[in-house]
Amino acid sequence: MALKKYHAKRDFKKTTEPKGKVKKDASPENLYIIQKHAASHLHYDFRIELGGVLLSWAVPKGPSLDPTVKRLAVHVEDHPIEYGSFEGIIPKGQYGGGTVMLWDTGTWESLDSNPKEALKKGHLRFILKGKKLKGRWDLIRFQKEEDNWFLKKYDDKYAKPESEYDITEKKPKSVKSKYTMEQITKHYQDVWDEDSPKSSSKKKVQQK
Ligand code: MN
Repeated sequence: MALKKYHAKRDFKKTTEPKGKVKKDASPENLYIIQKHAASHLHYDFRIELGGVLLSWAVPKGPSLDPTVKRLAVHVEDHPIEYGSFEGIIPKGQYGGGTVMLWDTGTWESLDSNPKEALKKGHLRFILKGKKLKGRWDLIRFQKEEDNWFLKKYDDKYAKPESEYDITEKKPKSVKSKYTMEQITKHYQDVWDEDSPKSSSKKKVQQK
């Protein structure tokens, strides 16, 4: 597990995303987060800490509490642990440009004694202890050697039918700032104008 792909995709002179590095000391509680990301297509980035990085899947429709619903989760590059607190705007034209919200945060616990091995085999069983997502979940790879997985709620006391409860609609706000996507965009808007004459003059004023 390394961050080569993560670093290669980003220009850290232009984005405020953390550069980060692989964390050496293993923490007893493993971080779990979901970021709602309004890139060219809105999606939810599901991330769990393992081996000093955040393993990551992009979930186009976001999680569902309904155990009969399988949500496509595309495995993407590992992210640094520091990414787990990132909320803001990735500048236009940069990789993943758009607003990022910290939609859920907490810890996760593998139900497999060797999660790395379980991932290799294509089925990870785990417990989420998030502010929004709780209970058992499964990540299941449905194409061998491919990046396409399903994220699925296991039928336990936290399960709810999608027709009655869509968690992405019921709980749309940030767990960090309590902001909506629109409020985050407004709050961090200056980043968008980084290269514009207006904001460079603003910067000069601030320097005086
Ligand atoms: Mn993303």
